[in-house]
Amino acid sequence: MTPTCPTDLPAPCRLRIDGEALAANWRLLSRLSGVAACGAAVKADGYGLGAVEVVRRLADAGCRDFFVATWEEAAALQSLGVPVSVLHGVRAEDMSAATAGFARPVLNTLAQVARWRQAGAGRPCDVMVDTGMNRLGLSTDEVRSGLLDGLEIDVLMSHLACADEDSSMNARQRGAFAALAGRTGARRLSLSNSAGVALGPDYAFDLTRPGIALYGARPRSGLDGIAQVVFPEAQVLQCRGVRAGEPVGYNATWRATGETKVAILNVGYADGYRRAFSNVGSVTWQGTMLPLVGRVSMDLTTVDATAVPSLAEGDWVTLNYDLTDAAASSGISAYELLTGLGRRAPRLWI
Ligand SMILES: *Cc1c(COP(=O)(O)O)cnc(C)c1O
Repeated sequence: MTPTCPTDLPAPCRLRIDGEALAANWRLLSRLSGVAACGAAVKADGYGLGAVEVVRRLADAGCRDFFVATWEEAAALQSLGVPVSVLHGVRAEDMSAATAGFARPVLNTLAQVARWRQAGAGRPCDVMVDTGMNRLGLSTDEVRSGLLDGLEIDVLMSHLACADEDSSMNARQRGAFAALAGRTGARRLSLSNSAGVALGPDYAFDLTRPGIALYGARPRSGLDGIAQVVFPEAQVLQCRGVRAGEPVGYNATWRATGETKVAILNVGYADGYRRAFSNVGSVTWQGTMLPLVGRVSMDLTTVDATAVPSLAEGDWVTLNYDLTDAAASSGISAYELLTGLGRRAPRLWI
């Protein structure tokens, strides 16, 4: 007989996700959006947390506008029955999904406009206009040219390149976008991502589209009330004593200066806990901060646990993963720290 293995095996690392903090962050961003509606960017599977769970909670909080990148991401949200816009619009191969009617395309190119005009049969769409970022979207001249006439446009949107900085580009993009008001039949205008929401009411227009701040990052000042949502946790696999002068980990990048208790954790860069946290990151156990010592390996991380004599094999520690702080200490953006979290860790919503 072939031996079989049960499939619901307990994982040694996990993501604790605070659904109440997520909803509270949306309510804060909604308040900061003033009279504008506040939507949510949930692309990349809800920035890695699980789009279905994210959308369910934000819809309960009152969110009515959701943004994904692809039709596959939109299809995954179908059963929730919420309005979804697909930021990458319609390639030829998207048309059967797009005309099924469960989400709106955001049209980005002349070819996409033509495709939608031909097959969209008067269904609603959104339109992206480029106001200086030179990434996705029609030009402002194309938008003014009348080529959108007759389309059923819900949201005309643009995207800010530098909203997380005090750049003159913000006002320039805002001005170029505001000048398009009334130039199309669009019902609503939308410009701001998370950082844009903190730029103030001039940037809110009718609808804002925060993403990263919902999930706990503070991309610029004015977002101090944003709460941490994601708490990665890892189990202790071994505790060992390391004598003064002895190294820890690959390439011996750390050496004990005195007798040190080191805990070996069941998490590594294959889980998205990046090697850049080597000798820089930290974890918390029962209120005590334990610094990383040595390199983060693929599946293991080592911390100095001298301060907690009772920490033992099998205990769980919380990685210090406030996105803004962790981005500053690792040099890796909050976006990458979040979307890079691996699939090996189950998402546990609390
Ligand atoms: C991802 C995205 C957002 C959200 O941006 P954040 O910086 O995460 O708030 C908004 N609009 C568009 C077009 C996006 O691609």
